[in-house]
Amino acid sequence: MRRHSLKIAIVMLLVSSGILLAEVRTAIVRLPSEQAGPEFRFPENPSGKVPSPSQSDAASKAVFTLVDGTRDRNGGELAKLNDGKLPAEADQPAENFFFAAGSDGGRLAIDLGKITEITQVNSYSWHPAGRGPQVYTLFASDGKPADFNAAPKRGTPPDKCGWKQLAKVDTRPKKPLEPGGQYGVSVFDPKGPLGSYRYLLLDIVRTDPNDLFGNTFYSEIDVVAAGDPVVAAVSARPASGPVRRDSFIADPGGYEIVIDTTETPDLTDWAIKELAPVLQKWYPQIVGMLPSEGYQAPKRFVVFFSQSMQGVAATGGTRVSCAAAWFRSNLKGEAIGAVVHELVHVAQQYGQARQAGQRPARAPGWVVEGMADYIRWFLYEPQTRGAEIPPARAAQAKYDAGYRISANFISWVTKNAAKDIVGKLNVAARQGTYSDDIWKEATGQTLQELGEKWKQSLADPKPAEEKKN
Ligand SMILES: [Zn+2]
Repeated sequence: MRRHSLKIAIVMLLVSSGILLAEVRTAIVRLPSEQAGPEFRFPENPSGKVPSPSQSDAASKAVFTLVDGTRDRNGGELAKLNDGKLPAEADQPAENFFFAAGSDGGRLAIDLGKITEITQVNSYSWHPAGRGPQVYTLFASDGKPADFNAAPKRGTPPDKCGWKQLAKVDTRPKKPLEPGGQYGVSVFDPKGPLGSYRYLLLDIVRTDPNDLFGNTFYSEIDVVAAGDPVVAAVSARPASGPVRRDSFIADPGGYEIVIDTTETPDLTDWAIKELAPVLQKWYPQIVGMLPSEGYQAPKRFVVFFSQSMQGVAATGGTRVSCAAAWFRSNLKGEAIGAVVHELVHVAQQYGQARQAGQRPARAPGWVVEGMADYIRWFLYEPQTRGAEIPPARAAQAKYDAGYRISANFISWVTKNAAKDIVGKLNVAARQGTYSDDIWKEATGQTLQELGEKWKQSLADPKPAEEKKN
């Protein structure tokens, strides 16, 4: 009995400390009219980072409902809030949703369709004058409370019918600043997700009680779910030509990966649906595999698909170039793995360290490329067995042949002689201290000895490694 009650007490303690830990913050950024552009790109500011609007967030598939209030017919339908399209200029009523002139806002509900772990709720607005700022209270619910009302009218306080207040948003600048401009708001919790919710409710009011035309021009509302790639929304009316830049943020670590398919719009859909989730997941992992003292891997890089490039792909600094022709004919096969290989080069950045060191020793190409192919073939896509060497070809195999063959060698050393050989090679290559002695220091055997043993294992795979049945 005593034990039982003790257990309950501990659980309660955890619950209450959980509440204390939750720390919902609201980041607000305002771009004055002369700095605002159709990309809604906001600089960092003391209140936090507001990402650019997304076209792939959880709200893009959600159902938006007008719970209370009247839509202004000079503006767009509710769908303007989650269509992933942005106004191209400051005063473009048809590309925004706003409440009718003379009314004082209203209530919007968002139904995500299922309970979703939400990391951010972001809202965007743009107007040259008083309709720029945003004033609303944000509520959320998982829909489970018995008294839950999915569409409470203005007279009903949401927190009395199954909703939890997440944030009070008020971006009105303090006088004498003009209220016009582009506003981005991000409601987030720096310590983790905001919570698991299915429904959101915005109770929106006019920015100035004395201004009949004071209802905000809302351009987009995003709900970002944990782990989802965020693909940048596009301008409803591109300023010049069919510019299409798709970027997303790879968590954890706040990495920004820009996938540029400006020259190859036919690859955009594949890039968003197939490529982006892999890059988002694997770049932070690869960075984690290749650490060295005082080194920060690039936080932002571009994957550019080139119409004119020959070959497969190449990386220079923080720019990965991909030959569109090769990718088009390998979309179902090696395309994504080829970019994973390039991600390793983005994380490696051995060129920089070579310049920084004094008379640095450059790691040989077979090591640099072998590491990239090791991570690709043996960690990212081992099921493809793309770097296996059959016994018949063991005799010609050379550990320093590069790419897949060196990858096979590195994999063998990792499994049989030194688990962290990749980590050690990385530190030496980046610091400009590589020599073949590293292999001996790590394994007790020279590179040549390791190479011979590896070849023997290829020619005569151990029974344990053979497939049974
Ligand atoms: Zn390479």
